[in-house]
Amino acid sequence: MSLYYKSTRDSSVRVTASQAILKGLAPDGGLFVPESLPMLDKSLEELAEMPYAKVAYEVMKLLLDDFTKEELEACIARAYDEKFDTKEIAPLVEADGAYYLELFHGKTIAFKDMALSILPHLMTTAAKKNDIHNEIVILTATSGDTGKAALAGFADVEGTKIIVFYPKDGVSPIQERQMVTQKGSNAYVIGIKGNFDDAQTGVKNILGDKELEKAMQKAGFQFSSANSINIGRLVPQIVYYVYAYTRLLGNGSIKAGEQVNVVVPTGNFGNILAAFYAKNMGLPVKKLICASNENKVLYDFFKTGVYDRNRPFVLTTSPSMDILISSNLERLIYRIAENDAGKNAGLMSELKEKGCYSITDDMRSQLADFYGNYATEEENAAVIKRLYEQEGYIIDPHTAVAAAVYDKYRRETNDTAKTIIASTASPYKFTRSVMNAINPEHDALPDLDLADELCRLSGVAVPQAIEEIRTAPVLHDTVCEVGEMCENVKKILGL
Ligand SMILES: *Cc1c(COP(=O)(O)O)cnc(C)c1O
Repeated sequence: MSLYYKSTRDSSVRVTASQAILKGLAPDGGLFVPESLPMLDKSLEELAEMPYAKVAYEVMKLLLDDFTKEELEACIARAYDEKFDTKEIAPLVEADGAYYLELFHGKTIAFKDMALSILPHLMTTAAKKNDIHNEIVILTATSGDTGKAALAGFADVEGTKIIVFYPKDGVSPIQERQMVTQKGSNAYVIGIKGNFDDAQTGVKNILGDKELEKAMQKAGFQFSSANSINIGRLVPQIVYYVYAYTRLLGNGSIKAGEQVNVVVPTGNFGNILAAFYAKNMGLPVKKLICASNENKVLYDFFKTGVYDRNRPFVLTTSPSMDILISSNLERLIYRIAENDAGKNAGLMSELKEKGCYSITDDMRSQLADFYGNYATEEENAAVIKRLYEQEGYIIDPHTAVAAAVYDKYRRETNDTAKTIIASTASPYKFTRSVMNAINPEHDALPDLDLADELCRLSGVAVPQAIEEIRTAPVLHDTVCEVGEMCENVKKILGL
């Protein structure tokens, strides 16, 4: 065992991978990052021969190196099974001159399933390894998709409780229904009167509350996080970039070593950071194209070197990207600050106090791998309609942000490198926006009828996740103020 994780805010904090997964967030509020990124130790050709689970093992063993082979293989086997509606787990679909990497074939039809199917197994295995007997309380803020994927992953997992906070008016009707109908005696879902950033900040505050931590310890509980700040979320996400590349290699679409672009519809910066890590582990990636919706903090950041969250929060048709504080960007900032925890901590406290910070020219010069742009709501709808009409392929509004930004990138650069677009949600999860984009007259139909119409247009069967919620009873109806989040957690835990 040789790889340790450090906090982005305090260089004296150093833990193993399993400890980092258990803790979620470092005690100083920083994020755990690997001390160095290991290089892939199997050739791309060898990986091209392997099914998803084997590729997952080859990637994850490098980063979670205090797990034994047996432990890791068991976690992988339990995660990537028939819960996914295709053996390929993450199939590629060629359309409009790009490869759409469909990451939505899991239980909750969004890409969060890719990591949240395995996180509960990593977490319970990590608890055993570290001789932890407390019940683990997963506290999660969601912009819509993480919540349901975490609930589905952790429901009835022994030794855990899962509490999810979501912005009551900031998720799609289908996302909300998916969450409030969640079964499981250890699952709790609470709407808050605020936006995603409020939920995320609230959760971070609860996780950082030292008094509460003591009370929890006494009662036999400890917190962890299922948000993408947890390294146990990030590591499984590196896998599918390696997998996608090696599929293209395997079917002759690219030659070994050929560089490909990756386009990622971005919110909290977790998914694209995983692609960046994959590149740094030796995957031949050219540009990392960061696609934002109208909450374009990241576009402005890549353009100017100034991160500024002081702006109106826009509710868009891609709600899982309606985020002004992209938590995982901190991991990139730390890296371009030459792993200087003090410098990073300084910038993060500026962000907390003033809502903005700017990076030095030196730091900016290290961002050449990234290209940032954004799509307006009109551009988003237009690309959904165009792909449907030209290709018969229907994408969701998050993926559409990526498709629209990729169009801009191609026009601006004339870059002809092969390109993988992360397709992060099934169009069935956002039927109204998708169907309205294709034809505004669809708006007259009720949500679930829209699903049937989408099925007719796309020829893709209605996923099980949608069938389930047609009749499922609402089991969670608590709504609270942002300031009442902590009280609600205490109530649930009987503290
Ligand atoms: C979470 C999510 C995103 C954003 O991913 P990040 O890792 O937060 O950048 C994009 N699309 C969908 C559908 C999502 O659920």
